[in-house]
Amino acid sequence: MAKRDDFTINGETVAPGSSATIALPVSSFASGMPASLHIRVAHGRAEGPTIFVSAAVHGDEIIGAAIIQRLVQRIDAGELAGTVIFAPAINIFGFLTHSRYLPDRRDLNRSFPGSPKGSLAGQVAHVFLNDIIDRCSLGIDIHSAAIHRYNLPQIRIAPDDPHLLELALAFAPPVIIQASLRPGSLREVARERGVGMLLMETGEALRFDRLSIRAGERGVLRVMAELGMLECPAEFSEETVPARSKHSQWVRAPRSGISRRLRKSGDIVEKDETLAVVSGLFGEEEEEVKSPIDGIIIGHVNLPVLNQGDAMFHIAEVQRFDTLEERVGLITDSLNMSQRELFEAIPDEDEVI
Ligand SMILES: [Zn+2]
Repeated sequence: MAKRDDFTINGETVAPGSSATIALPVSSFASGMPASLHIRVAHGRAEGPTIFVSAAVHGDEIIGAAIIQRLVQRIDAGELAGTVIFAPAINIFGFLTHSRYLPDRRDLNRSFPGSPKGSLAGQVAHVFLNDIIDRCSLGIDIHSAAIHRYNLPQIRIAPDDPHLLELALAFAPPVIIQASLRPGSLREVARERGVGMLLMETGEALRFDRLSIRAGERGVLRVMAELGMLECPAEFSEETVPARSKHSQWVRAPRSGISRRLRKSGDIVEKDETLAVVSGLFGEEEEEVKSPIDGIIIGHVNLPVLNQGDAMFHIAEVQRFDTLEERVGLITDSLNMSQRELFEAIPDEDEVI
């Protein structure tokens, strides 16, 4: 069998069967230090697809960095077919300052395709697009909820793409959401260039939690197995059927005040079920917050101090609601966690690992 070509990027080479950490120059910090995008390339010995796994496009959504650390430990380039590029801190500026945005207040996920002479966000987008996305056939981009919010592990894909749906089913998160793409987003520009994207939403900004890390590690390895890049580890091989949704709805605070949350992410809820109560500062004038639909809670707010209209719960409507409870049970079993552990894995507001 012919030896596979080296992987070359920014003048550096990675031999087949080896891994390397590479710095891609983007710009410089105000202090004059170079600002580079650090990536880890695992270049398999055998031919196969090239994919990327990225995180912290929103700089405070750091959960993907923990997932990528696990994947880097588990993936042996000597046993790999194809190539994986890991980019755990895409928004290098926001990652350092614990901010969703860049120093110029721009949202990197609205700044694609970008340009070398554009805004700082545009410069980062340009390097990411040209040096990473354009070399790949698939990307898995990992996000979390905003600060004080938690998202149940979920995969979001473009609607009407059977191949992506297959890969999302292989990932096997608790929930798959098929939703349209936002202009200027990484997913939209990748799609225009023929690169499929799975967007993982999981956990809370600036926090790590066990369920998110486990679900991300498991999902990426299962997708790579589906693409023939590696053998699926036995501990992750159990078949599960994620709940699927094309419609989700936010439930907002009916008044300003203090909330007492009764339900949380992962819970299955029925229409008109009470999710929380919001009262005044002394517990007076309680108002109930009810679910507008049958579904599964895919995100919730952890911060109990609320203004009227604040988003409190994100609920995905699911078809075949009658079998969902059973499915959620299967999913948590396959993550090697009981339902109780799942709930324990959802962090309290001040839990920092
Ligand atoms: Zn995000």
